[in-house]
Amino acid sequence: MLSSALDLAPGMPMAERQRLDALLEAVPLAVALFDGMLSLVATNARYRDLTGLDVAQASGRPIYDAFPNALADLTEQIDIAAGGAPVVSVRVPFQHRGGRRLVEATFAPLADGRGGRGVLFAGSDVTEREGLREDLGRSVAQLESIFDVLPDSVRVVDADGKTVRTNSQAQEEHGESNPQSLRELWQLDRPRTLTGTTLFVHEHPTARALRGERVRGETLEVRRGPESDVAVIEVNSNPLYDPHKRVRGAVTVERDVTERTRLQQRVQTEAERLERMVQERTRELLTLQEAASRDRRLAAVGQLAAGVMHDVNNALNPIMAAAYLLEMNAENPTAVRDYAARIARAAETGAATAARVGRFIRQEPLLGAREDAVDLSVMVEEVVAMTRPLWQERAKGGVVQLDESLVDGALVKGIAGELREALLNLVQNALDAMPGGGTLRIRTTKDAKEISVAVTDTGTGMSAEVRERAFEPFFTTKGVNGTGLGLAEVYGIARRHRGRAEIESEIGKGTTVRLVFPAGTNTTATDAPKAPKRARPARRILLVEDHTDSREFMQALLETDGHQVESVKTVEEARARLDREAGAYYEVLVTDIGLPDGSGWDLVAFARERRPALRIGVVTGWEPRNERDPACDFTLRKPVGAEDLLEQIAGDG
Ligand code: ADP
Ligand code: MG
Repeated sequence: MLSSALDLAPGMPMAERQRLDALLEAVPLAVALFDGMLSLVATNARYRDLTGLDVAQASGRPIYDAFPNALADLTEQIDIAAGGAPVVSVRVPFQHRGGRRLVEATFAPLADGRGGRGVLFAGSDVTEREGLREDLGRSVAQLESIFDVLPDSVRVVDADGKTVRTNSQAQEEHGESNPQSLRELWQLDRPRTLTGTTLFVHEHPTARALRGERVRGETLEVRRGPESDVAVIEVNSNPLYDPHKRVRGAVTVERDVTERTRLQQRVQTEAERLERMVQERTRELLTLQEAASRDRRLAAVGQLAAGVMHDVNNALNPIMAAAYLLEMNAENPTAVRDYAARIARAAETGAATAARVGRFIRQEPLLGAREDAVDLSVMVEEVVAMTRPLWQERAKGGVVQLDESLVDGALVKGIAGELREALLNLVQNALDAMPGGGTLRIRTTKDAKEISVAVTDTGTGMSAEVRERAFEPFFTTKGVNGTGLGLAEVYGIARRHRGRAEIESEIGKGTTVRLVFPAGTNTTATDAPKAPKRARPARRILLVEDHTDSREFMQALLETDGHQVESVKTVEEARARLDREAGAYYEVLVTDIGLPDGSGWDLVAFARERRPALRIGVVTGWEPRNERDPACDFTLRKPVGAEDLLEQIAGDG
């Protein structure tokens, strides 16, 4: 029994003593009772825990020795209490086994029943509470320093809009004027939206927060600083609530975004300026490019002219020489025949050059020429058969493999001879590009819109510059071995057949040249042997041609075929004949275009008006005329082929 040995009140009945002990244990304090002699007579467990004394050590201990581990001298407090005056709430540190404890101690005087004066010690352990208080103090200090260090201005107002707190940034912003309420702040700032609408005081973000709204990211213009400069701020405001959820104030945070806004504006202006610059440069570049491609075209024309001149001169030289020799040897029939043959050969060479150039220049669609439905796949087989010896028995150079992929019924309307020549040119170029051997791939395709043939090689390929110029006449990289006319011709032929030619090429990998023609011919292939010639009906013909040789040649030709021909040399004469009563006599009019007294086209128009039933044909030299003239029924190019002329005169019926 804890206090049985202590004698606080000798003679105290045992039962009372036990009640006192129970009471001491129930108190949440460390308690010790000292009698009139200031000796320890009763303790509780908390006291013994605090002081580290056990019951035996505590019993009868003098008061001055009853706090052996107190870290402060308690003599004065004990003396005051022993003198009859209470000492309350003294903070006393103790060295406890678990560490340092802070105790709030009370020493109270007590009457001991024998006339003596005892002392009551009661100690409350406040270590935890003090710790919390210190932490709280530190946190508040920290918060306050953060509050002040914020680059934003923070302003707290109460429910009436009176300023309660501001941080240093907020104070700085308003300097001397230091607004004491929301209204004063509003008067100083005169806030307005970025579109210039002035805000009423009740529309201020703080006022809205006081009505319970959370305001986020409102951008406003306000007047700031001594010059009343305009600043742009971003405002956030939150209501503050009391424990009953009533608004008791608001906190408003403003951030100055003037610089950022200006920067954004500057960036935008700069971006616009850059874009304008890029547009201008692009325009300049395009103009330059146009100029460059114009230059290239001019260079091509120059090259064409130079090449023609060269070839024509080559043809003319032997003609002139032969003509001279003819004159010298006019008496010698053998020599005359010999020179005549030479002249003819030279003229043929010249004519061939002219024809090649002509094929290139005349890129207009075919006019009235005889067209057949040509099967490109069949033609590929033909061309391969014709050229196979070329690549199979190459004296030098590697082996060329053939890879064909041909569709049925790749029908194109056009002139078989020209299409064949185009294919031959492509195959020849492909072989030239593969001196070390490779694969020659020929492919035809067909769909609802287009028919194509592509010739691919695995050869040298073309540089961008070569690819760009490859279609130019006389452009060659093959020196004396090349004419530079192959692809120019291919291009012309494709165009005349209402199609196009495309090159895909990569240096070192190879080249594909593709010809694409419009589909939509439902004719069947007529490349097969032709039907025997029909007997042609005799016609009454008016022939207009100023060139004597030409006129006589055509007249003779037509008459040989059984026609009746009248010929004149001028537009005037022709009009006169057609205008007569007897004008109806003619069934066919054939006219040259370049006539001494006017254009054949005028005559065509005149004839068509007077004699609607007349079949009209024109014979032209070089005049380019891109569209078929509706007034005439057929067009023939000089030099006129006999067979073509006769067939056109006969017409379809
Ligand atoms: P030529 O064959 O007489 O040189 P072309 O007009 O046929 O004239 O071709 C012009 C140029 O285009 C050739 O000199 C060559 O440089 C290039 N070329 C044409 N076809 C091919 C090809 N399949 N592979 C590589 N280069 C080609
Ligand atoms: Mg070629």
